Amino acid sequence: VAAKLKSSGLLRSQALIGGKWVDSYDGKTIKVYNPATGEVITDVACMGGKETNDAISSAYDAFSSWSKLTAAERSKCLRKWYDLIMAHKEELGQLMTLEQGKPLKEAIGEVSYGAGFIEFSAEEAKRIYGDIIPSPLADRRLFVLKQPVGVVGAITPWNFPLAMITRKVGPALACGCTVVIKPSELTPLTALAAAELSLQAGIPPGVVNVVMGNASDIGDALLASPQVRKLTFTGSTLVGKKLMAGAAATVKKVSLELGGNAPCIIFDDADIEVALKGALATKFRNTGQTCVCANRILVQEGIYEKFTNAFAKAVQSMKVGDGFSEGVEQGPLINEAAVKKVESFVEDATSKGAKVLVGGKRHSLGMTFYEPTVVTGVNSEMLLSREEVFGPVAPLLKFKTEEEAIHMANDTNAGLAAYIFSTNIQRAWRVTEALEYGIVGVNEGLVSTEVAPFGGVKQSGLGREGSKYGLDEYLEMKYVCLGSM
Ligand code: ADP
Repeated sequence: VAAKLKSSGLLRSQALIGGKWVDSYDGKTIKVYNPATGEVITDVACMGGKETNDAISSAYDAFSSWSKLTAAERSKCLRKWYDLIMAHKEELGQLMTLEQGKPLKEAIGEVSYGAGFIEFSAEEAKRIYGDIIPSPLADRRLFVLKQPVGVVGAITPWNFPLAMITRKVGPALACGCTVVIKPSELTPLTALAAAELSLQAGIPPGVVNVVMGNASDIGDALLASPQVRKLTFTGSTLVGKKLMAGAAATVKKVSLELGGNAPCIIFDDADIEVALKGALATKFRNTGQTCVCANRILVQEGIYEKFTNAFAKAVQSMKVGDGFSEGVEQGPLINEAAVKKVESFVEDATSKGAKVLVGGKRHSLGMTFYEPTVVTGVNSEMLLSREEVFGPVAPLLKFKTEEEAIHMANDTNAGLAAYIFSTNIQRAWRVTEALEYGIVGVNEGLVSTEVAPFGGVKQSGLGREGSKYGLDEYLEMKYVCLGSM
């Protein structure tokens, strides 16, 4: 697959600065692995602070012309980029499965989902309206202009190698900003391929720059630069907090999409088929490696046994394997550290009295494969319910009353996504209002779409991505007072 992708020009190994593909200045490289086999896919340039500063300068230079294009001109470029990504859906999906491990069908699905943010941004680019405010004084006219914030630093994780980038870069470019992207070092190849397609789409050199390598050096350069006016980050809460603190020195605008601890609440009055389908989808998408994956499945006592049995049966039959194999539903975890974390969480739970109903250990396929797992008897003292497991482990917790479910659901510093399954519309509404979360799925486990605002409250983040609201993150308001009328 890698050889085929190389000949198509989509397998890139250099960074993109000012429209040129470049090696690191000291020739350093890092290896990118296929998590399903452990094989090295390719070496990529390992960039640091100096290269990042050059990328920032390129973005800063490009900003003066890109921001002055008409919205229609920027929209056309974005549309072309969208078309090219869709035309290369298969190859981008293959590249993603190769470096990230997710099943090919899911990877191709992410390409469409990720491209959707660019298409939507191309459309919204034309709808960035200002405002006219009725003046309290007869001799004045008051206006609000919306202007691009400037150069954007975008730091993204490995779980959605394309979509986490496009949901930042699409709206940024639509608003007239230019970007320096730092993809995860674990999955830089999809990002580089998307950047290559941005050049082919006619997006001018310097508008999109990509540097990967030494994460903290690149991060520090982005933070230190007064030219970078906005930092947008998706990743761990720990790193997000560091970046937020670091952004204070230059008072950058900041958006953060951090960790979640999603509760999935199944009430006695749920339609069990709908609840099963939803809980499985939200828990096991991307092998449990998303920040909106159900992290705790709270089941009311009246339906507990019936739900648990049906859920366990479905999990037992999931097909695990290399993402390129036909019919595979669960790929490998991203790396050894991820498997160790999952193992330690399951161990912690069983040592405190929880029971493994299905799975519970490394998969016989070896590498970083882990068995799809169901753990029962989980309580709030266990790591499985306190921290994000980011793996294919479903912890089940039992509750009695609605109040208890709400209390358990909100008993966390995270507040990204939550799910409710109930056929009682009043209850669904009551609980939705009481949940301290940025996203609530009611009788639905898959809620992400480019047209709706994605983001968390509490320590899950700041700002929203996607939808018309997502563009605000890349705009400044300018109030203009015209006097002496
Ligand atoms: P994850 O667990 O999803 O890998 P991380 O927060 O570790 O979460 O990584 C998300 C992104 O943040 C990656 O691109 C990673 O390289 C980057 N990153 C990690 N540490 C730093 C840092 N100190 N400064 C800037 N970026 C960082």
